[in-house]
Amino acid sequence: MTHEETPGDETPRSALPRDEAPHDKMPRNELPRGALLPDAADVDEARMALALKAAVDAAESGEVPVGAVIFHRNRLVARAHNQRETLQDPTAHAEILAITQAAAALGSWRLDDCTMYVTLEPCAMCAGALVLSRMPRLVFGARDPKAGACGSVLDVLSCEQLNHSVEVTSGVLSEPCGLVLREFFQERRRK
Ligand SMILES: [Zn+2]
Repeated sequence: MTHEETPGDETPRSALPRDEAPHDKMPRNELPRGALLPDAADVDEARMALALKAAVDAAESGEVPVGAVIFHRNRLVARAHNQRETLQDPTAHAEILAITQAAAALGSWRLDDCTMYVTLEPCAMCAGALVLSRMPRLVFGARDPKAGACGSVLDVLSCEQLNHSVEVTSGVLSEPCGLVLREFFQERRRK
């Protein structure tokens, strides 16, 4: 009988009790907050990549590149990007458009069992809309030190006086999510 062993590990994996399966050997401090298993982090990154694609679409149409997707369990129910310029609407942030799409897709204003993935930390308006939609979980990419309302400037989502709190995971693909914004503004300054 042969089996794979990590160097220095005398115990055959097959002999380990279930609770000490290989994922337990992952350094825990490398997992993003809120991720229970490495698998969960992979899923978050794959879904954030879809939001990032929407952000790139925004940049191509001259909009500040912020993208959002919403999953209801494992089904994509919304995909939107910022459209403030196109619609000349100050509320046309990616998150608001995505929440409206998801509610229409599910036929319910309550977005139970949904998770939003957005490339930039939501502002106060969008954080408020997340609370109103009863979204259980938010995953965002880059922080917004100027207007972020999920811990940076305000912390709307963990306000105990409100009747709903949202579980937040931050920093998922934060580098590319921030880069697409920086490149957009650099490009705009050159023009
Ligand atoms: Zn917003």
